[in-house]
Amino acid sequence: MTRRRWIADTFTDTTASLLGAQAEHLARVLRAQAGTQADIVAGGRVYQAVIETVSLEEVRFKLLSVLDAESALPFTLLLAVFKFDRMEWAIEKATELGVSTIVPIIARRTEKHLALSADKRVERWRRLAHEAAKQSRRADLPAIEDPIALATRLSRNTSAHQILLAEDEHTVSLRQRIQAALKISSNDLPEFEFAIGPEGGWTPEEISLFAKHNWQPASLGPRILRAETAAIATLAVASAL
Ligand code: SAH
Repeated sequence: MTRRRWIADTFTDTTASLLGAQAEHLARVLRAQAGTQADIVAGGRVYQAVIETVSLEEVRFKLLSVLDAESALPFTLLLAVFKFDRMEWAIEKATELGVSTIVPIIARRTEKHLALSADKRVERWRRLAHEAAKQSRRADLPAIEDPIALATRLSRNTSAHQILLAEDEHTVSLRQRIQAALKISSNDLPEFEFAIGPEGGWTPEEISLFAKHNWQPASLGPRILRAETAAIATLAVASAL
């Protein structure tokens, strides 16, 4: 077994465990054995670790030393629920780009059948994010929240800078919005929330609701992007700045 990276299901100061499907995979497929070294992600850190015990239910590691402590970028993505295959792609790519939280939003133009089955999809989205975090060697997992209605989510208080990605915003670019936010922020890495609409876009009522809650509209350019492209472009621009 070559040196690999795993994301712990549970951990203490000195040990970390993989449970359930992860444990079974290690024990049965990879034939992990005590003494094998691996990298373990636990609590936002990456450790050099060595396997202590192996069973089909639990593989326990002893944590040896901290390798690094990269953490997610302070970006939350409010992602309107859209076609599941494209949505999954967006979740995977957003994870690779360092998003810290994804909030699936039931928007007015989210297709009915997607809205109805979104709750049942969350576990799958979390698994995809887990795989993408592992593959991209992140030191943590993004949180994938339960799907929520837009109005409920917008009524929540936050100190984050809130930016609405809107294809009908023609004057202010995302870059300008972020730079303006950074200028007034006392924090080096202030938090941002970005909202991306569904395939049919936000309705005028939703856009007014964002405005009422002080979200700032921003443009990604003169072309209409698909939701998943908009999500990736947003995170790429934000992380570059
Ligand atoms: N209403 C559009 C499609 C919406 S695109 C239509 O004409 O069919 C889906 C989402 O991607 C939008 O709600 C918006 O959040 C984002 N988006 C797409 N293109 C964008 C752009 N040029 N600038 C900012 N956001 C954009």
